Amino acid sequence: MSKVLILADHDGGKISKTAAELATLGKRAGSVTAVVLAPAGQGDALAAQLSNTEIEKVVLVESDDFARHGIPALVDALAQIVSSENPNAILIPSTARGKEVAGRLAVRIGGGVITDAVDVNSDLGATQSVFGGSFTVSSKVNKGTPVITIRPSAVEATSTSTNPAIEKMSLTISDSAKLVTITGTQPAAKGGRPELTEAKIVISGGRGTNGDFSQVEAMADLLGAAVGASRAATDAGWYPHTHQVGQTGKTVSPQLYVACGISGAIQHRAGMQTSKTIVAINKDPEAPIFDLADFGVVGDLFAVLPQAREAIASKRS
Ligand SMILES: Cc1cc2nc3c(=O)[nH]c(=O)nc-3n(C[C@H](O)[C@H](O)[C@H](O)COP(=O)(O)OP(=O)(O)OC[C@H]3O[C@@H](n4cnc5c(N)ncnc54)[C@H](O)[C@@H]3O)c2cc1C
Repeated sequence: MSKVLILADHDGGKISKTAAELATLGKRAGSVTAVVLAPAGQGDALAAQLSNTEIEKVVLVESDDFARHGIPALVDALAQIVSSENPNAILIPSTARGKEVAGRLAVRIGGGVITDAVDVNSDLGATQSVFGGSFTVSSKVNKGTPVITIRPSAVEATSTSTNPAIEKMSLTISDSAKLVTITGTQPAAKGGRPELTEAKIVISGGRGTNGDFSQVEAMADLLGAAVGASRAATDAGWYPHTHQVGQTGKTVSPQLYVACGISGAIQHRAGMQTSKTIVAINKDPEAPIFDLADFGVVGDLFAVLPQAREAIASKRS
């Protein structure tokens, strides 16, 4: 049975939901140990959030060096944990930060790295969706310990009723990982909606909104979804670039993606093609997004979205 190490990332005192997703994939190969690299005094509260997941053990390290020295310090700690735990693979969330950690860690431990996987099998082989989703690639690391980054929401997390054992580890971050000191950080202003790359549902608007995202946002709020946008919409200044989905924007893989007034250009598809269910609302029946959609509505989004909201609300009541 393999031993899989996962990085349980966190933000502002909250463990990312990617931890339970990585654990679900890791469990296929064997036992799962989660690593929590926490600020001093916050480790127990973070580790407690990992109950009822597939995680069997939590290795908890508390140090203010993680916030002070950033990713090099995280990687230094992870490399030390890898050498003591000796796992068969390491799974890391496929976020910008996760991919930087993965690349640096792979160099440190001499293992191969696979990024942006959407699945991992019991033999620790990974599946990637590449070239805008037009190819599905199966790959396996054949040198050293595999470091694999997994797209958020690529799998539905499973749960168990057991609580993981928590092992506190004290280690010293090496001087070479402390060459840069972070002197200040300013978190980006966040709305009440979920983070785009982690959301289970994404409602996106394109040029068809003509700059009016009110219907897209109203649907997102009804479903507890994140809001995405095509590049046409972000370039026009209708929605922030941080919400752009696609080749030069973010990659999302939610359970449900609703494209409103988006034509389905290859560069947009590259960022949302692996969504589980795709719904398209477009007034042009020839729009290429319909080739990809599981469900399509030919119509004006300003007529379709309010009716859909009404129907959902009346079903719920
Ligand atoms: C190097 C490069 C990188 C790129 N990266 C990205 C990227 O990351 N993300 C991205 O999205 N694009 C990207 N693009 C741009 C991409 O090629 C398209 O131009 C863009 O996706 C088009 O956005 P759109 O679908 O919103 O607009 P359009 O293609 O103009 O489509 C608008 C759609 O809305 C429909 N519509 C209009 N009014 C309504 C209405 N009232 N109700 C319903 N439907 C309506 C129309 O029928 C049409 O299909 C990139 C391009 C290049 C060259």
